[in-house]
This record gives sequence, C-alpha cells and structure tokens, in this order.
Amino acid sequence: MRAMVYHGPGQTALTDVRDPEMTDEADAIVRVEATTICGTDLRILAGEVSSVTPGRVLGHEAVGTVVDVGSAVRTVGPGDRVLVSAVSACGSCRYCRVARYGQCLGGGGWVLGRTFDGAQAEYVRVPFADTSAHRLPGGVADEEALMLSELLPAGYEVGVVRAGVWPGDVVVVIGSGPVGLAAMMTARLFSPSRIVAVDHASSRLGAAREFGADITVNNAVADPVPTVRQVSGGLGADVVIEAAGRPETIELALRLGRPGARIASVGLHGKPAALHLDEQLTSDITLTTGLADTSSVPALLRLLDSGQLDPRKLITHRFAFAEFEHAYDVFASSADTGALKVVLTP
Ligand SMILES: [Zn+2]
Ligand SMILES: [Zn+2]
Repeated sequence: MRAMVYHGPGQTALTDVRDPEMTDEADAIVRVEATTICGTDLRILAGEVSSVTPGRVLGHEAVGTVVDVGSAVRTVGPGDRVLVSAVSACGSCRYCRVARYGQCLGGGGWVLGRTFDGAQAEYVRVPFADTSAHRLPGGVADEEALMLSELLPAGYEVGVVRAGVWPGDVVVVIGSGPVGLAAMMTARLFSPSRIVAVDHASSRLGAAREFGADITVNNAVADPVPTVRQVSGGLGADVVIEAAGRPETIELALRLGRPGARIASVGLHGKPAALHLDEQLTSDITLTTGLADTSSVPALLRLLDSGQLDPRKLITHRFAFAEFEHAYDVFASSADTGALKVVLTP
C-alpha cells in the first residue's frame, strides 16, 4: 500500500510499504477513507519528536471502514464505518479506568504515527479497537467525523472542560489556529457571555469570528488587556484558553485572567515559559495543561449527529492521497495558504 513515511528530519514521502497486519487479538485493521495532517506531524518532520524514528508511517487521525478484527474485539466488526481516535486506550489501566486515555499505562496513549505505524496510509492497524475506534452514526459524514479524531477533543477537553467554562463567563482564546477555533466552537456550547479571540494575524481573526468569537484583538497591534477588562466589568477574563504555544502567550494569558481565573494551556509548547509567581501569588489562579484523552468523542459524535456542531468549516483544503506531499506543503505554509485542516481521501 501507499503511505506517508517519515524518512528523517525534513524528509517525508509517499512510499510503498507492506500492508499492516494484526499483532494482537484486540487489534482492528481499518481501510482509511479520510485522514488529515496535524501540527504535530510538522514537528515530527522538523525532527523535534525523538520517539518517531525513520521508516514510521505518519498520521494519527482517520475515518474508515473496518476490514478485520482480532478475536477479542467486541464493539466493532468488519464493514463498520469508524472514527479512529488519535489516542489509543487499553481500557483497563489505572488511567483508562478514569477515561484519562492520554496517560494510558497499558500500551496506549498517543502511539499511532509515533511508535506504531499511523493513519496517513491506505490501511491502518488500530490497537485496542474496542476503546480506540468508534462506530459512526449513519448521518455523519466522514470528513466531519475526522475532526473528532483529535482536534475537537483537544480544544474541548484540554481547553473548555479543563478550564470549566460556565454560562455567562468572559472567555479569552489566545491563538486562532485550528485548536483555538475548536475551543471557541465548543465553548459556545456553554453560553459564555463573550468570547474574545486574540491572535497576531488578522486573517486568523476573520476565521475566529466565524467560529463564535464576539470580539477580536490583534495583539501585534494592540494590547488586549484593556478590551478584556472593558467587557468584564474591569476585572479580567473568567477563563483564558491559551492555544498558541509560545512563552509570551502564557504570560499574556496570566495578564488577561481576573483573580480566581481558570487558565488552560492547550498550545504545543517547544520552549519553557516564565510564571511570575511573585506577582501572581495572591491572584488565586488555576493553570492547567494537558493532552487530549479523546474521552469526549462519544458525546461530540452525538452533538454532530444532532446538528449542534458543524466542524466542517475547519476544513479548508481537500486532496487525493496521491497529492499527499503537496498537502503537507500547503498545510506547512498555512500563513500563506490559509490552511486550517486539510482532508485527504483515496
Ligand atoms: Zn495531532
Ligand atoms: Zn490504559
């Protein structure tokens, strides 16, 4: 089969590889019908993820049809259309028992496209299929379900849920890339009084308005603090979701929150960030970090099925598998191409 293979820093190519085979009775083999590229794939390509070694098939998000299952698999079977979760879960370890799949101790966690061959391929082996693959409701389209493999759960679980958005809250989202937009879209489910989007690129703030931001601030031009104070009775934001992943955006998040604020960091940080605990000592702030568990997938699928979420607007580009290398280029130059999510189909 053809698959996108990592051949070392800066080198990835559509390559002929052997079809995946089941190695465990809890595995399923899925024929991939839609897959996508994640910001993490670009970090792998930059050589920043040392656990990914040359020869690895990339990709951790997919929708497809089950073609075979191991003898222990109970919940999905051949012919089922499934969402493949970016996070695999053994289902029985201490963390999986409390749905913290990202921390799985039993061989799951983020393994697809990292330590196992991934989903940017015609077929993928899905470990622990009972907990890592989700049967799709009939009315849900492949590409909208694909946004639930990782992106919507990341913005929702690590941002909105961990920060605890309540009705009436003033919510600031720093960073209007795909994860920030997913956080805005799912924060709306809780009826905040205002969502303020902060980004340094005007083009991204245009997208933020379409995803539920009431107010946008370009922080390359203006300090967002006065705007946030103004819409929060002078106090500051109840919730700040930091989805940009830079040291200065964490510092900005701390400046934007009111005393008692909940601040959730969802951004992929590559460098240390300073916490000014001398200044923040008495401000009673809760700061959370995390990795998506994808434990919200069943709930998000129900919201998709009932039409209360429309993640299709996250998709800016569509390509055939044969155009995979070009799709990486388009996704990597998102500042010029405006790419949010690119979808690849056979
Ligand atoms: Zn990812
Ligand atoms: Zn586990």
